[in-house]
Amino acid sequence: MNVRNEELDLHESAIASHHWTLSIGSERRPGRGNALPTLNPSTSRLLAEVASASADDVDDAVSAAVLAAQQWGERSPLDRARLVRDLADVLESHAEELAWLDTLDAGLPLWMMRVDVATGLQRMRMFSDFALGLTGQTIPASAGGVHLTFPRPFGVVARIIPFNHPFMFAASKLAAPLMAGNAVILKPSEQTPLSALRLGELAQGVLPDGVLSVLHGGPPVGERMVRNEAVRRIAFTGSHIVGREIQRIGAESGVKHISLELGGKNAMIVFDDADMEAAVAGAVKGMNFAFVGQSCGSTSRILLHRSVAERFTELFVKAVDDLRVGAPWESDVQVGPMVDAAARQRVEGFIERASAAGAVRLTADRQLPDDGGFVAPTVFRGVDPRSELGQEEVFGPVVSLFTFTEESEAIALANDVRYGLTASVWTNDLSRSFRMARALEAGYIWINDTSTHFPGVPFGGTKLSGAGREESIDELLSYTETTAVNVVMAR
Ligand code: NAD
Repeated sequence: MNVRNEELDLHESAIASHHWTLSIGSERRPGRGNALPTLNPSTSRLLAEVASASADDVDDAVSAAVLAAQQWGERSPLDRARLVRDLADVLESHAEELAWLDTLDAGLPLWMMRVDVATGLQRMRMFSDFALGLTGQTIPASAGGVHLTFPRPFGVVARIIPFNHPFMFAASKLAAPLMAGNAVILKPSEQTPLSALRLGELAQGVLPDGVLSVLHGGPPVGERMVRNEAVRRIAFTGSHIVGREIQRIGAESGVKHISLELGGKNAMIVFDDADMEAAVAGAVKGMNFAFVGQSCGSTSRILLHRSVAERFTELFVKAVDDLRVGAPWESDVQVGPMVDAAARQRVEGFIERASAAGAVRLTADRQLPDDGGFVAPTVFRGVDPRSELGQEEVFGPVVSLFTFTEESEAIALANDVRYGLTASVWTNDLSRSFRMARALEAGYIWINDTSTHFPGVPFGGTKLSGAGREESIDELLSYTETTAVNVVMAR
């Protein structure tokens, strides 16, 4: 047995023997709902059975949050910032444990999960640094009067997150609503709950009671959170199907402020003047193969100027074929399994249907374990842009190559999808880069880069990719409502 396998056994038995609980108010308590299994997608072995929240658990968390929010919202922003930083410090002292939890729970490479944990903590600290950005305005609206605004927290914020960055999203997405003065109820994906539940446990005693609750469970738990009348602000990251469902449920239970970070079918456009080797490296990075393509921002459609298509394709296909697929705890592995066998089957369905429709698969076949979520990184050309693979988010390691001649053709192809999250343009022509940035229907655009999220730069999508912006001061302010005060002076 090599050292890594011994470490693997240690971490798996620590998970199996851990007393997994929900964090509600001042308590760590086992959920009173159904137990849900969470599996290691590399081996399909059971990691743990964790009881989900019952409807009463959800309502208890909301009641505790309502109480806690009153005092939390009255603390000074710098005071809240200190406690959010304290939480980041405590989590950092458990960084290795948290990275292993995500590697085993989600199948993502350990080296990548170490980066994810660090990024989550960096974003928490970024929002604590934004503390003094919670300001209002004064408006000279009348002669002699004083007209001013101040931001007011909503009270209770529900945060529902997906499976693909389990800890990073749990940590980073609670920071802005907390900093804005709200209490937060966080629900991780039922597919990858462990690191968020651990976060909830570690936060007890750092944050005041009730300021953060962490629940576990699937759609019924999320729905109950959205329906509760005391929850007036919901922030959701996930698929557009569930995002739209949340808008519907929210509308049935009040007037709710809902922001949505949803999927993408993102285009990377390579012009003939681009640095070709950098573009190929950018395409590999942009597909987020370390996440097996399970990333909302993945550049899964690559649009190539006809004159460079052949050279780019040759280099890119070789780079994808060279990726090392294997167990995510091995240090040299670049691509692990997808989150579960069902995700693998879904992606294989896309591949089979595209092949049957005449698309040409350029990457080599690989021998991969039948168990769990392993699927080969795959590049196609000859995909009909209006076909299923040309239009729909695969959320897996499947890339389609297209060609164009005119800039206008590239813009039309890039925009001809229902999504609008990211886009990437490769050119050394400054005027063209800005023309493209204005023409592309996407919320986050890179020129000569892919995938990088820059701290403080608003991230979010248009069209089916969402509503709202995160990772920035815009996100912080989105967790407040504006109160306006008009002072009329005595004459
Ligand atoms: P999903 O929509 O299936 O689930 C997301 C979360 O919603 C989970 O916690 C789930 O339990 C919960 N949920 C499901 N049904 C619900 C309901 N009816 N009411 C309330 N909550 C409910 O998404 P997923 O499969 O976990 O994640 C993949 C999707 O997330 C992809 O579409 C991806 O593009 C998107 N995503 C977007 C971003 C972004 O920043 N734009 C980031 C990551 C992932």
